[in-house]
Amino acid sequence: MTVAIVLFTSDLRLHDHPPLHAALASADEVVPLFVLDDGVEATGFGAPNRRAFLADCLRDLDAGLRERGGRLIIRQGDVADEVGGLVGETGADAVHMAAGVSGYAQRREERLREALERVGCRLSVHDAVITTLAPGAVVPSGAGRDHFAVFTPYFRRWSEEGLRSPFRAPRTVRVPEATASAALPTRAGLRGLSPGLAEGGETEGRRLSAAWRRSGLASYEELHDDMAGDATSRLSPHLHFGTLSPTELVHRARAAGGPGAEAFVRQLCWRDFHHQVLAARPGAARSDYRPRQDRWRTGRAAEEETAAWKEGRTGYPVIDAAMRQLLHEGWMHNRARLLTASFLAKTLYVDWRAGARHFLDLLVDGDIANNQLNWQWVAGTGTDSRPNRVLNPVTQAKRYDPDGAYVRRWVPELAEISGAAVHEPWKLPERERARYDYPEPVVALSEGLARFKQARGLD
Ligand SMILES: Cc1cc2nc3c(=O)[nH]c(=O)nc-3n(C[C@H](O)[C@H](O)[C@H](O)COP(=O)(O)OP(=O)(O)OC[C@H]3O[C@@H](n4cnc5c(N)ncnc54)[C@H](O)[C@@H]3O)c2cc1C
Repeated sequence: MTVAIVLFTSDLRLHDHPPLHAALASADEVVPLFVLDDGVEATGFGAPNRRAFLADCLRDLDAGLRERGGRLIIRQGDVADEVGGLVGETGADAVHMAAGVSGYAQRREERLREALERVGCRLSVHDAVITTLAPGAVVPSGAGRDHFAVFTPYFRRWSEEGLRSPFRAPRTVRVPEATASAALPTRAGLRGLSPGLAEGGETEGRRLSAAWRRSGLASYEELHDDMAGDATSRLSPHLHFGTLSPTELVHRARAAGGPGAEAFVRQLCWRDFHHQVLAARPGAARSDYRPRQDRWRTGRAAEEETAAWKEGRTGYPVIDAAMRQLLHEGWMHNRARLLTASFLAKTLYVDWRAGARHFLDLLVDGDIANNQLNWQWVAGTGTDSRPNRVLNPVTQAKRYDPDGAYVRRWVPELAEISGAAVHEPWKLPERERARYDYPEPVVALSEGLARFKQARGLD
């Protein structure tokens, strides 16, 4: 009787799961394992919203395995120790897992490999599970170039690559009977959850993505920036936890065809792009990818303005609406992420790391590759070819929330102001303005711009 372990990490699904497929093809029994990793806890990455979503995902994964005759084995502790221990208990001769990209995931894989070598067990690390293309699968020509630093040429090469076909979910999974499991984590007792948090799990992810293909995908190109329309897929938490396979999503979108599908596939490629940057430069999770000698503002005023930004009371309605959406849902529209990040890093000229940290504390899709590198992109320390562009929140609000509906949804103090006037409450007559309990702008946009230009030596 041969046994293989499948170590689930950011790939909490049964459909299109190469490690599970390989384990089932080569062993009589399989141990589907998830380790509640003390190391991840120690990094402070385990925010309440993501813990809740993770609990949903694990419950659903366990239910899916039970329908197939198996179950999920939960352990808690150090990943290398737990997997090593389980190899001893079950006599497994192989462990299968998806390749990770962050510095943490790379170190974890290394330690696991060493631990398994000591007990004579093979580690199979599968590419293109968490991303569509493995980081490094395409690289620019030129000696020593290990990743693309510019999106457009990456997208061109990425689009030319053949994609593997998605694997079906298995019909049966036989798990060694005596294998003990800790209890599944639950949402119960988690404090500080966003009230409008989405539900996790592969079942919910597949339901959402099917609904998206039916009624969102075709108009994605046209509507993706319409903040009030909320017309993006909202699949990001499912992609972060791997309850959906990016490869399967690309296949299905391409099969649907049309400009909406093309634009959606391009966004999925952005996800791969940031992952391949992080895999090659894990330090970019914390350090500037392209240092600009920024001397970010610190001190009392900067702290107070950052607090106002976090709480959604900067006096700029579109910024406040977006920050309140983040608090309420643990999720934010992409255009809103761009505006709020630009506001913090450029208009307030506060270190992008403070903003990225706040996002990671709340985002249910909070992801080291996508969050840190998008923050760097906006702050101009990353891969943006126009690092000094500053997004004007009023101009942008008028363009992407032309009727002001997004702002009125999230900033009820201003709900009585109709149309685009809601974006500039300071322009209302004094008497009318006094009726709204809403702050004055924390800084004039012209002042923020002048400060930023001076700091970057652009004057
Ligand atoms: C400052 C900032 C921080 C961000 N932090 C995160 C994060 O922590 N996690 C995260 O998944 N995304 C992050 N993004 C990217 C993007 O905003 C979200 O992926 C998107 O808003 C999720 O909504 P959706 O699923 O409806 O996206 P859709 O528009 O439906 O796009 C489909 C998928 O493509 C991917 N995608 C879309 N845009 C991007 C992008 N710019 N970069 C990378 N992948 C992208 C996502 O996986 C997304 O689910 C961030 C963007 C900015 C500007």
